[in-house]
Amino acid sequence: MTPYRGHPSCPSCGTPLAAAKQGGMSFERCPSCAGIWMIERQFLELLRASDTAQHVDELMEHNDGSKRRPCPVCRELMNLAWKDFLKLDRCPSHGVWLDAGELKEALNSKGAWDSAVAWFAELMKPPSQWE
Ligand SMILES: [Zn+2]
Ligand SMILES: [Zn+2]
Repeated sequence: MTPYRGHPSCPSCGTPLAAAKQGGMSFERCPSCAGIWMIERQFLELLRASDTAQHVDELMEHNDGSKRRPCPVCRELMNLAWKDFLKLDRCPSHGVWLDAGELKEALNSKGAWDSAVAWFAELMKPPSQWE
């Protein structure tokens, strides 16, 4: 495993994360695999903003036996958390991680959550399309 050098790195591929902004929101993303790291409060606010029909107060944690990955910040293994069909990695202290691949899976699902998914799809454009 890549040693921790004081900068958050991607839990999936180890690339140092890059700070990014969209829609007045700051987050970090992986320049290599396009995963996204953000603080949980911000993530929940996003969900609430994009789907007012649902009351999103917390994520449901459920470690289903899938491989758990280290938090980009503290390196503790993150818990798996779920928002409907979307699987997240969650560090209770630092934030949530969304794989570009996980989002892609979610894009193939149908449901009331489509607006949020579209928003995240925009957020997760491949690095070649970043401005
Ligand atoms: Zn990565
Ligand atoms: Zn952490």
